[in-house]
Amino acid sequence: MESIGVLMLCPMNPYLEQELQRRFNLFRLWTVPQKPQFIKDHSASIRAVVGNASAGADAELIDALPGLEIVSSFSVGVDKIDLNKCKEKGIRVTNTPDVLTEDVADLAIGLMLAVLRRLCECDRYVRSGKWKKGDYRLTTKFTGKTVGIIGLGRIGMAVAKRAEAFGCPISYYSRREKADTKYTYYPSVVELAGNCQILVVACPLTEETRHIVNREVIDALGPKGVLINIGRGPHVDEPELVSALVEGRLGGAGLDVYENEPEVPEELFGLENVVLLPHVGSGTVETREAMADLVIGNLEAHFLNKPLLTPLV
Ligand code: NAP
Repeated sequence: MESIGVLMLCPMNPYLEQELQRRFNLFRLWTVPQKPQFIKDHSASIRAVVGNASAGADAELIDALPGLEIVSSFSVGVDKIDLNKCKEKGIRVTNTPDVLTEDVADLAIGLMLAVLRRLCECDRYVRSGKWKKGDYRLTTKFTGKTVGIIGLGRIGMAVAKRAEAFGCPISYYSRREKADTKYTYYPSVVELAGNCQILVVACPLTEETRHIVNREVIDALGPKGVLINIGRGPHVDEPELVSALVEGRLGGAGLDVYENEPEVPEELFGLENVVLLPHVGSGTVETREAMADLVIGNLEAHFLNKPLLTPLV
C-alpha cells in the first residue's frame, strides 16, 4: 500500500501520523506552503483523505481530487465533510464512533460539576492566596438536578447513565422518541429547556441543528439553568449565549466547543459561572489511539477490498 496517496489535512495525532506514514504515501497538507498547487500536482495519486473535527473534505477539495475513493475522519462528527457530494461520487466515508463516547460523556459530567461547584474558580482562589483572607462562598448542588439532553445517541446515552448515578432525573429531545428508554421525551427543545436545570447538547451538527440553542431556548432554561455544549459550537447562537450570560439571564455554561474555534468570545473570560475547554472531548491518550486505529483500519479495509469497520457512506 506504500504507493497509495493519503492526504492528511491538519496535524491530529503523532501516533496516527506515524502509522499512516508506515503504510501509505502520506502527504501532510499543513506543511505545504502552496496548498492548491500541491493538490493539483498530486491529485492523480491521492486516493484517501484523513480529516477531523476541524478540517474535512469539502466540495472544493473533493472536486480537486478525481482519484479520491475514501474520506476517513478522525472524529465521530462529520459536519466538515460534504456527505452529499461523497454519495454522488461514490466516495466512501468513515468516522470514529463508540471509541470516544465514554471520554466525551465523562467530560460533560466534569463540566456540570465544574460549573455548579465552581471548580476552576475555587482552584484560582487557592492559588492566588485569597483563601487566607476568607472561605470561598457557597456554590450549587449537582446531585439531583434535572438533566435535559439534546440528541440521545451514543454520547447522550452515556451522559444520561452517568447523570443518573448522581440521582439526576433525565429528559431528552431527539427527532423521534426512543422506544427503548424510560427517560422523559419532549417533542421540542424549548419544552426540554423549560423542564430541566442542566441542558446538554449532544446531537450531530446538521443544517437542522445549527443554532438549535437559540434565544428562546436560552430564555426557557433561565437564570438558574446551565448549558453544557459538548456537541459542536454552531449548535448554539453564540452572541445570544454571551449576552444571556453577561446579563444574568442564564445561570452558567460549560463549553468544550465554539462557533469559530479557536476563537472564544472574550466577554466570557471574566465570568466565574462559565467553564471553557479547548475542544478536548475525546482528548485522552487512550481514546485518540483507539480513534487512530479505526482510521487506519478503515483505510486498510478499503484498499484490501474488505468491509469497512465503521462505514457512514
Ligand atoms: P449519535 O450516536 O449519532 O447520536 C446523535 C443523536 O442526535 C441521535 O440520538 C439522534 O437521534 C440525535 N439527532 C440527530 N439529528 C437531530 C436533530 N435534528 N435534532 C435533535 N436530535 C438529533 O452521535 P454521537 O456519537 O453520540 O455523537 C454526537 C455528536 O457529538 C457528534 O456528531 C459530534 O458532533 C459531537 N462530538 C463532540 C466531541 C467533542 O470533542 N466535544 C467528541 C465527539 C463527538 P434522532 O435520530 O432520533 O434524532
